Amino acid sequence: MEERSMNPNITVLGTGRMGSALARAFLQQKYTTTVWNRTSGRLAPLVALGARSAPSVLSAVAGSDIVVVNVNDYATGDTLLQQEGVAQALREKLLVQFTSGSPKQARDTAAWAAKHGIRYLDGAIMATPDLIGGPQSTILYAGDSGAFDQYKSALLTLGTNGVHVGADPGLASALDSALLMVMWGALFGTLQGVAVCQAEKLDLSAYANYLAPFLQAMNGWSLDVVKRIDEGRLSGDAETVATVDTHYGAFRCLMELCKDRNIHRGLPEAMEPIFRAAVQAGRGQDDFATLSRYLK
Ligand code: NAP
Repeated sequence: MEERSMNPNITVLGTGRMGSALARAFLQQKYTTTVWNRTSGRLAPLVALGARSAPSVLSAVAGSDIVVVNVNDYATGDTLLQQEGVAQALREKLLVQFTSGSPKQARDTAAWAAKHGIRYLDGAIMATPDLIGGPQSTILYAGDSGAFDQYKSALLTLGTNGVHVGADPGLASALDSALLMVMWGALFGTLQGVAVCQAEKLDLSAYANYLAPFLQAMNGWSLDVVKRIDEGRLSGDAETVATVDTHYGAFRCLMELCKDRNIHRGLPEAMEPIFRAAVQAGRGQDDFATLSRYLK
């Protein structure tokens, strides 16, 4: 039993970009790895690395201690897991769902797994396939903490930053969304910035040079906002670096520029009412963190 915990057999269901990276990381660490994919042509490179390919989901899960699922969405994952005989074959094994899903989907799958005596972890991969297995691969796990501890060394094969975030199976996915929102905020902001540069005939390589140190400063501002909201310090104080009025003034300049240059205003127009609500409520001299009141 202990030997199987240290050296579990692993199955990867779904070998797209991410699933293949997961399988490669297991194979690199010499885990016996079985792979299944809807399109069997995608299995050949993994078989060349030593993976066993299985002709069906049921045969893929049969001899493994850990079954990892990584397909396009939860509905597909559910369809695979609900194929005849699969739930029975998974009994007492660890199922790790790495497919992106909502907290509710993770909780529903955890309830389904519990009903069938399957141990369950929901995993949120905060990395791209090229980072899997390396020090920059952060993976958040939620659910059965005993299973996480038992198979920790195998799971950390996928990235040394693997961490169990709580027994509630929805928590990894909730954190995933909360972190990805920051990514999309920054990436969409970058697109808007590029549109401004192009309209004003600014050199994009120069923009990239100015952007790099600005993004570093942004890290501090973002973390400060979270800390202030956590501590309830929403009013302006000696540590406030810019009030809502100051932010809103500069923001209206951006709106004006976009209007003058006929640049798409969908993104700033979505933010503007939040500023306006705070100012109308007399919160103009508050810290930026005060805007959190208007997102509830
Ligand atoms: P991908 O390369 O498009 O792979 C999708 C996988 O889903 C393939 O194995 C595909 O099989 C399978 N699939 C799709 N529809 C199916 C169906 N009806 N029945 C059975 N299998 C089906 O996508 P990916 O980048 O690997 O992403 C997979 C998951 O990882 C997603 O939930 C994604 O959000 C998550 N993720 C990805 C990244 C990333 O950077 N790529 C990062 C974090 C999380 P076929 O080969 O047969 O089409």
